[in-house]
Amino acid sequence: MTTLKIENLHVNVAGKEILKGVNLAVNTGEMHAIMGPNGTGKSTLSQTIMGHPAYEVTAGHIYLDGEDLLEQGVDERARAGLFLAMQYPSEIQGVTNAEFMRAAINARRPEDDQIGIMDFITQLDEKREFLSMSEEMADRYLNEGFSGGEKKRNEILQMMMVKPKIAILDEIDSGLDIDALKVVSRGVNSMRSPEFGTLMITHYQRLLDYIVPDYVHVMMGGKIVKTGGAEMAKKLEAEGYASLRDELGLNV
Ligand code: ADP
Ligand code: MG
Ligand code: MG
Repeated sequence: MTTLKIENLHVNVAGKEILKGVNLAVNTGEMHAIMGPNGTGKSTLSQTIMGHPAYEVTAGHIYLDGEDLLEQGVDERARAGLFLAMQYPSEIQGVTNAEFMRAAINARRPEDDQIGIMDFITQLDEKREFLSMSEEMADRYLNEGFSGGEKKRNEILQMMMVKPKIAILDEIDSGLDIDALKVVSRGVNSMRSPEFGTLMITHYQRLLDYIVPDYVHVMMGGKIVKTGGAEMAKKLEAEGYASLRDELGLNV
């Protein structure tokens, strides 16, 4: 089992404290969701876990199986088994989607165990078809001219190819129509195994109808204020964050 452990995490962005003491543990075999209002620090948490330099950790720790992640660069964290699907995936000029994925897979493997081209193509075709993606997607430059839905689908394809231990999925549901949402959910659900854990960040409950989490956490004012099961997301959708704020006596 692999564990991503976050302890009392405080993070500043542009000199302002955004995360104010986040505690969370995600094990392989578990699916966690973080919900919360806009601007509360959800993306800040995902960017900090992956080591984005704009996010300054002022206190606390992040460990992956006891190893201090904060001592590691972005590449090292990816090699250790983390994967981040971003809210706004960026374009990479001159690199095809397939080249990018093959490099990402091989970067995580030892020199004498690199994935061969035939093996790679076989796996790519299988997963691409599973996600109802066209063949030419693989040969296009990464995210260049991809629609919002294609980008999200592609992030899931990358995740399925790279097979991380822990994936952080930041608003993979935003901007998706219902068909794309189903495809993306099918991809994430196919990863469910004792070797895989995920932290899904979402603004809306809808995603969690398709990917049923084991745990739901609510983030408000830069902290996790409540943890429950899948049913809590439904209650939140019905009652809104304001009533939870009142219930907990929060002033954020
Ligand atoms: P969420 O994902 O919950 O909507 P974010 O983590 O994106 O929230 O943002 C939390 C707060 O941090 C917001 O007030 C946002 O404006 C600020 N913030 C996030 N990233 C940056 C950045 N790179 N530069 C300046 N402010 C930022
Ligand atoms: Mg947001
Ligand atoms: Mg966000």
